[in-house]
Amino acid sequence: MKKISILGSTGSIGTQTLEVVRANGDIQVTALAAGKNIRLLEDQIREFRPKIACVWEEDMARELKIRVADLPVKIVSGMDGLICAAAEPSADIVVTAVVGMIGIRPTIAAIEAGKDIALANKETLVCAGHIIMELAREKGVRILPVDSEHSAIFQCQNGEREAGNRIQKILLTASGGPFRGWTREQLREVRLEDALKHPNWTMGHKITIDSSTMVNKGLEVIEARWLFGVDFDQIQVVVQPQSIIHSMIEFEDGAVIAQMGTPDMKLPIQYALYHPQRRTLSGDRLDLWSIGAIQLEKPDMEVFRGLGLAYEAGRTGGTMPAVFNAANEKAVSLFLDRKIPYLTITDMIEEAMRAHHPIEDPTVSEILEAEQETYGSIESRW
Ligand code: NDP
Repeated sequence: MKKISILGSTGSIGTQTLEVVRANGDIQVTALAAGKNIRLLEDQIREFRPKIACVWEEDMARELKIRVADLPVKIVSGMDGLICAAAEPSADIVVTAVVGMIGIRPTIAAIEAGKDIALANKETLVCAGHIIMELAREKGVRILPVDSEHSAIFQCQNGEREAGNRIQKILLTASGGPFRGWTREQLREVRLEDALKHPNWTMGHKITIDSSTMVNKGLEVIEARWLFGVDFDQIQVVVQPQSIIHSMIEFEDGAVIAQMGTPDMKLPIQYALYHPQRRTLSGDRLDLWSIGAIQLEKPDMEVFRGLGLAYEAGRTGGTMPAVFNAANEKAVSLFLDRKIPYLTITDMIEEAMRAHHPIEDPTVSEILEAEQETYGSIESRW
């Protein structure tokens, strides 16, 4: 039996991972970790019987301990607890599905403990890609992408890398979000309800807003740079509004390989858990006769400035991607609380980047300090 730990088990990726586990029936869950949702975490503990479960707040951990006192599960809390869950000795794979830079330390702990990583938490690679990829190489562990685009690229390169074939270009697809084709004037009027409606994918609130601003695509560009070891000039974003081409690779001979399918996160999750094996997955199948035409477009970087800023942050490197990510996190949370207008999200990212003097080759502490400084400077003004 394969053994997995899931960090962020109560979120969108976490619950879909557990659906995959439930459907396959041959995976044992050894650790679960969540932020606040102890009601759902308790249900998950009762169903999947992990050895260890982590909840962020100590008070909530105490309450959870009482609720599951009849079960042989160890309840832990805080960053120490999260690291404990990540490094649970019997797990083979750790699914990192927490949101934010909080994923960096537990991911490092899991790699150090020799676990393969099914990586959903993109902030980890965006902010600490130089540390994570080097450590994974050193420890001989696999970083298996869960993000649908990166899973697509991973699937397209299967066998090619082993044959010594080099990637010429990554064609990273984007749906363009709910405001594709809009002008900046129109974006000024965007309400929270509009931004939370993604045309193709059902996801957590933060990532849905990020998709609408195309900041999510920017984070994915930086993530792809680290996962596949390419330069930023080799990553081209292509808008594919139906979200059926999940991404493509162009090889040196001009061949372009694409991975296609209906938009369903369970496919990349299952692929990461069983790679290189493919398993049956229930759900809709692509019907190319009814689709008829596949639309492809160039992204509008003038309107969706977040994407251009992500390329800039990635090319600058050092602590700049952490500042890009932290400013976006803070701005999105203010937008979700209806405290700032939609376009201010990218204005805030740009301001934070202009004010920052990046540190080259930063340590984890320096990355987290850059995050806190960025949060602090935005909070002092809002
Ligand atoms: P959600 O907001 O739905 O879930 C986040 C999860 O993280 C929840 O389980 C939450 O717990 C947990 N969490 C938050 N804070 C802490 C903490 N301090 N300690 C432990 N757990 C914590 O996010 P998503 O599932 O949408 O996204 C997760 C990651 O995957 C993100 O990095 C995202 O960018 C990436 N991703 C998501 C995709 C998607 O389709 N959703 C696609 C590709 C990548 P709780 O709810 O209990 O507070």
